[in-house]
Amino acid sequence: MSKSNQRTRRSAPIDLSADQFRALGHDLVDRIAELLDTMGDRPVGPSLSPGDVRTLIDSERKLPSHGGDPADLLGRARELLFEHSLFNGHPRFWGYITSSPAPLGILGDLLASAVNANVGGWKLSPVATEIELQTVRWIAELIGFPADSGGVLVSGGNMANFAGFMAARVAQAGWDIRAEGMRGAQAGQLTLYASKETHTWVQKAADLTGLGTDAIRWVPTGRDQRMDVDALRRMVDLDRKSGHRPFLVIGSAGTVSTGAIDPLGALASLCREQGLWFHVDGAYGAVVTDVPGVPEDIQGIREADSVAVDPHKWLYAPLEAGCALVRDPEKLRAAFSYHPPYYHFGEEATNLVDFSPQNSRGFRALKVWLTLQQVGREGYLSMIGEDIRLAKHLFDLVKAHDRLQAFTNGLSITTFRYVPADLRDRLAEPNVEIYLNELNSDLLFRMEKSGEAFLSNAVIDGTFLMRLCIVNFRTSREDIEVLPEIAVRLGEQTDRDLRPTAVL
Ligand SMILES: *Cc1c(COP(=O)(O)O)cnc(C)c1O
Repeated sequence: MSKSNQRTRRSAPIDLSADQFRALGHDLVDRIAELLDTMGDRPVGPSLSPGDVRTLIDSERKLPSHGGDPADLLGRARELLFEHSLFNGHPRFWGYITSSPAPLGILGDLLASAVNANVGGWKLSPVATEIELQTVRWIAELIGFPADSGGVLVSGGNMANFAGFMAARVAQAGWDIRAEGMRGAQAGQLTLYASKETHTWVQKAADLTGLGTDAIRWVPTGRDQRMDVDALRRMVDLDRKSGHRPFLVIGSAGTVSTGAIDPLGALASLCREQGLWFHVDGAYGAVVTDVPGVPEDIQGIREADSVAVDPHKWLYAPLEAGCALVRDPEKLRAAFSYHPPYYHFGEEATNLVDFSPQNSRGFRALKVWLTLQQVGREGYLSMIGEDIRLAKHLFDLVKAHDRLQAFTNGLSITTFRYVPADLRDRLAEPNVEIYLNELNSDLLFRMEKSGEAFLSNAVIDGTFLMRLCIVNFRTSREDIEVLPEIAVRLGEQTDRDLRPTAVL
């Protein structure tokens, strides 16, 4: 009997006794360990329609009036999730940019929610706040950003980019944009610059801040999907001449489609010369600065005014964790802080409520802080380097294969498509290209349903491609080496089914 049992406890329907908690928790941890250990033997994902899933959870039933048995509920939830989820922790999950979750991070999340620190105010979360600040400093250190920069953890890359955007907007507007908003005299003139390969967060940010998406100037890219700096310069000049107020340039350190790295050094120089804020979207690729062999252009990230990094991508943290870094911490605070009378937090401590739109904040840092120490800098560089090598290995295999056509390989992303033997000599004929788009799109869908591997797609200059992205410490060389065979087998089947109605 523990001591607490001698105290009078209020009986609340939501509480669990210590014995219940122990029994449920031990059983759950055992089963999660089993799942992680056997994940590679399962299909990567289920083949279910939204209707199937609604049936599985009996989605039409009413909220229960009275409570149910915790063991039954947790058991049922576990079964549902274990049997019908798409596992991004599977060795053959290569879709989007979504990583396998670090096991220690999984346990970190359990610990974090047990303590339930509210990391909005230092007073509410003394240890958690300092751990978050240390985590942010370590992430800055990992990418070579100044140690005295400021930062905060947010839900993901979108919000991390958004924080940089907000800081830029307040610092550069030239009027009190937080008070006057877009009624400021020159509000309609603000313009920002991003390549057409930039992730869609930039549209959401322009929209939500009231600038509107028309304020975005889409800078063309070369054939390598990297921003054309000369075109950028011309666009900025032209805008200035027509009375606009350029304020922000966004570079990508690893574009979402192909892993291309913009000429960040050249962008940094141009921004310095023109007095523009330089933000780098490094949600995917910021962490490669010290990985041997990556394009030199990545080093320009160190000169940015703000950077977004996504620990839930290439630091393998369980969702969610994004990180906003701003060179001058005061500029991040200036974008978000207010001092309402009901918060008496004191000034000597850092209150993270001042650094992002969030108020109550969960303890996201713990899972990241734990794995950064478990793995260390060298461990991360080695895992990331291996992901990059495996994507390159696939690129080489595809290039050597007579039924596959390789397109791009950047960081840990490789794009390619299936081409039937008899169409190989007819590429670039419009009808053939239309058919190949249809064929590869259907093939990708079949691969997903098969559960053998999970890829997503890219569209480059109108060409539909299969796209593999490895941010997965479980993927082995063997996993990669079976992919061409899977793609070709399913490609042949798809071609057989679609060919009779094809216009070729
Ligand atoms: C993933 C990604 C984002 C969005 O990040 P989330 O974590 O999904 O919000 C933004 N930019 C790039 C380059 C990304 O790869």
